[in-house]
Amino acid sequence: MDVYTPAAKRVIIPLWNLKDGHRYGEILKAYETSQYWPAEKLRELQWERLKDLLQHAYLFSPFYRRRFEELRLTPEEIKSWEDFEIIPILTKEEIKSNLQEMLATNIPRGKLIHKRTGGSTGVPLHLYVDKRGMDFKRAATIRHNRWSGYERGDKIAMIWGNPDIYKSRKAFLRNLLVERAIFLDTLRMDEESMRAFVSEIRSFKPRYLLGHARSIYIFARFMESEGIGGIEFASVISTAMALSEKERQTMKRVFCCEVFDRYGCEETSLIASECEKHNGLHLNAEGVYVEVVKEGKSGKNSSGGILLTDLTNYGMPIIRYRVEDVGLLSESLCPCGRGLPLLQEVGGRTSDFIVTPEGRLVFGISVLDNLTIHIPGFKQVQIIQEEIDHLHFKIVKGQGYSEESVRIFKRELPSYFGQKMRYSWEFVDEIPKESSGKYRFTICKVKNPFY
Ligand SMILES: [Zn+2]
Repeated sequence: MDVYTPAAKRVIIPLWNLKDGHRYGEILKAYETSQYWPAEKLRELQWERLKDLLQHAYLFSPFYRRRFEELRLTPEEIKSWEDFEIIPILTKEEIKSNLQEMLATNIPRGKLIHKRTGGSTGVPLHLYVDKRGMDFKRAATIRHNRWSGYERGDKIAMIWGNPDIYKSRKAFLRNLLVERAIFLDTLRMDEESMRAFVSEIRSFKPRYLLGHARSIYIFARFMESEGIGGIEFASVISTAMALSEKERQTMKRVFCCEVFDRYGCEETSLIASECEKHNGLHLNAEGVYVEVVKEGKSGKNSSGGILLTDLTNYGMPIIRYRVEDVGLLSESLCPCGRGLPLLQEVGGRTSDFIVTPEGRLVFGISVLDNLTIHIPGFKQVQIIQEEIDHLHFKIVKGQGYSEESVRIFKRELPSYFGQKMRYSWEFVDEIPKESSGKYRFTICKVKNPFY
């Protein structure tokens, strides 16, 4: 281990947290203990947090006050988990059209952190989280990271879209001292960038690798096909989309370590992740209440739509939110001894890479996160690649659409897909889901050279 790592963990990171006002230390300590509580005790904690949240939402969120009034109900009358299911499911559309009324009136707007996401369906969504809620999310992420061995301050390699470390001096410094990450940009993956990343890994020597499942797999396949060896990690954390067994086995083989699958979303942050037993994904139960419903009813032993209730975000209460992913909750306990319930399967966000005529790979989810959700009036977009030099876009118009929207879109395209790509688009009323019920942001029918 280098000499900086212990210093970063003991001194630099605590100081940086102090500077940024992050106060997750106590929460993390509590989380380290509660993960081993019996399932029943965790359920009680969730119930207490849920009751507090419902009370808060009723008192301070005009949207939820209206919702309760329409039900002719007060939070006190919700006395069981079954009662809780009376509360209607919250959709993305509702968040979009009621954003201001959802925010809590007792927390100043300036104290809320703004987030934007394309989520699992590509529909842009604005969200707010209060600072205390963010501390809960940080604590959960750190706890779940620790299961893979990774601690803040450890060197890490990341395969991600458009890393923001070069966007400001502060971000650059923060990365240098605190995050200690090197990046392979998923908006620009080609032989050259992957080769450069290999050299960077050799000299920087990160112990961990984190990224989108598909992107890590592509990088692993590239190394294998080029006969590049000798790059080993202590563990790989795979996130942002479902991880297939083939992808997992390839990563294990190439990087000579275990792979820790993770499920999260921008709306509530970390939802579940694998422990060292790899026996399903342990829920972040203290922070998020997860339901799986089929045709509106809670489903045991069958997969269905995932509903999320964020137990710790008081700035913008999120209750029974349909995230548009599917999952299966497990009744069994994990041999690791943690009482946190297990999520057996998750499916949702799926996305391909686009291949450019120059042979570069552009990851669909990264295009979504960095381009299409930022275009005003584009409600939803799907990219279909039938030929190497042609992309077809299906666009659903939303509020705020004008000719300017298309102008911005056309202007930005070459910076993502190069100069040789041709484009066409059509406006549609909706984008159909796959037969599996999943929505695919990008569909690539051209052979990916690294697959
Ligand atoms: Zn476990």
